[in-house]
Amino acid sequence: MKKFFRLLIILLLAANAVMLVFTYQSTDKRKKAEEAFFAQNTEYEQLNETLKSETNKLEALSRSSTEKNTPSDEKFEKNLESTGVSVCIDPGHGITSQSGKEPVSPGSGETKAAHVSGTAGEEEFNLSVALKLRSILEKSGITVDMTRTEHECDKSNIDRANQGNDSNYCIRIHADGSENSAASGISVLIPEKSYFGDDSFVRDSSILGQYILDSSVKNTGAKNKGLVTRSDLTGFNWSKVPVVLIECGFLTNPEERALLLTDEYQEKLAQGIADGFLKFVKEL
Ligand SMILES: [Zn+2]
Repeated sequence: MKKFFRLLIILLLAANAVMLVFTYQSTDKRKKAEEAFFAQNTEYEQLNETLKSETNKLEALSRSSTEKNTPSDEKFEKNLESTGVSVCIDPGHGITSQSGKEPVSPGSGETKAAHVSGTAGEEEFNLSVALKLRSILEKSGITVDMTRTEHECDKSNIDRANQGNDSNYCIRIHADGSENSAASGISVLIPEKSYFGDDSFVRDSSILGQYILDSSVKNTGAKNKGLVTRSDLTGFNWSKVPVVLIECGFLTNPEERALLLTDEYQEKLAQGIADGFLKFVKEL
């Protein structure tokens, strides 16, 4: 019996030892697995750090190249101011209760209506094209003055000419009208002579007029009605700076009127006028 108990105790001890070895081995395996996991985790974190720093470098590079290609608004604004050229845009006509007369030219006894209402729909059309033209020219670094930005305007033709004289050039925006509903196309009017003795006035008005006519016709596909010299326009006769008047098309021609009243066609006109003016300015 004693032998049996001794054997049992030995067997139990042996079993215990085996259990201990197994437990030790499995703990050891777990530890190793944990260590491997932590090592991998550290490696992963290091990779992640490297990735982050590379991403930051890439972002910095991308920012610096963007800054080089597109200057900040402030820098851009400064570039735009650099041409030093100014233009007065005069959207013809305006809603007014004024109805006086004024001398057609300096020193003349002949008078003409100081305010004329223009062709039906012309006042709104002129203003719309003029505002589009202003936007394009300002983006190109030209300083733009407007005789009006509202439909209501009490300024006479002499008032407009005097305001235009404060800029380097003056562009008058109009639309044509005719009893012949088939009449269509663009013409540009230029002054015949200067009342202020400046030789370059007629020459520059003529060159500017030709450029604006060519580019407007090219940009719209409208009929070219040519350059027209006028001596009877108060707005021209009181001008001291080169001045042109574009008749953008006939509001009395149903087909052309439909075109003239679209935003798309007005943009083409404004771009055409701007192209001609900017070509002129570049050649100065
Ligand atoms: Zn007009």
